[in-house]
Amino acid sequence: MDKDTILVVDDSDIICSIIKGILESPTLHIDIAHSGEEGILMAKKLRPTLILLDIIMNGIDGYETCCILKSSTETKDIPVVFITGNNDSESVLKGFEVGAADYVSKPFIPEELKARVKVHMQNIKIQRELQLLMNELKEMAVTDYLTKLHNRRYFMDQLQEFVNQYDLKLFLILFDIDNFKKINDTYGHNAGDMVLVSVSSILKLLLREEDILCRWGGEEFMICLPDVTEDIAIDLANKLRKEVSKYIFNCDGFTFQCTITGGIIQYDRAISPEKNFTNVDQALYLGKSSGKNRCIINYPILKVNE
Ligand SMILES: [Mg+2]
Repeated sequence: MDKDTILVVDDSDIICSIIKGILESPTLHIDIAHSGEEGILMAKKLRPTLILLDIIMNGIDGYETCCILKSSTETKDIPVVFITGNNDSESVLKGFEVGAADYVSKPFIPEELKARVKVHMQNIKIQRELQLLMNELKEMAVTDYLTKLHNRRYFMDQLQEFVNQYDLKLFLILFDIDNFKKINDTYGHNAGDMVLVSVSSILKLLLREEDILCRWGGEEFMICLPDVTEDIAIDLANKLRKEVSKYIFNCDGFTFQCTITGGIIQYDRAISPEKNFTNVDQALYLGKSSGKNRCIINYPILKVNE
């Protein structure tokens, strides 16, 4: 793990080396700046975990330095602890007003300085862990547990973003694995799960970064292709279909192949998303009822691609 860094901003070399001596440890690195101006530059460059900031300095003072740090998006979240000889309540209050998290008074009692810094470092650690956990939860809420593809909820949000870009042409492809029930019945549910995971991987591998792919439900996958022509959408759908049909599955001693059927539409902004989904579902249904392992486009006229 990276060492945490504390940036000490103080115009006194003696104070800086005293603080460094007290705080530096195998897990904590101390950087020094000798003025507010230097402190701001170093804070932006080094992104320290915590800043210890002297109040009375030549050039801009600690209050002004703190205001500048708190007004910059790069440094506003770094906690600032004031180092102050002025421990009258007015100076302390002014420190909190400009955004300080805490203050320590000069001269230091080493144990107090250590203890205060420790509390702040622990808070920061908890904040970081919470943030990671929040990110994980957010990702879990939009991820399908089996295939690790995004789910329908994520798809709907991303699609809306594309729909809002009015001049962006969009195509939807809805794929369904053919005879999926039969795969489960013949080779077992492990095999069924493996097919879902493998088909997901094939689709994901062949799609572009900007395409949206999700597990729509059951054995269905929905894709949105932004900024493509009808010919490209059809070609891509068939390329995906053919790749799946060539793949040889091995599971629990069985070897087998499977196919997928796709419906394709150009997304129509004049009708609701739900109506578009109905249309793409209808194209898929036509593909199924006319023999499976094919892609059918439902716009502007039905075209069958076997
Ligand atoms: Mg000073």
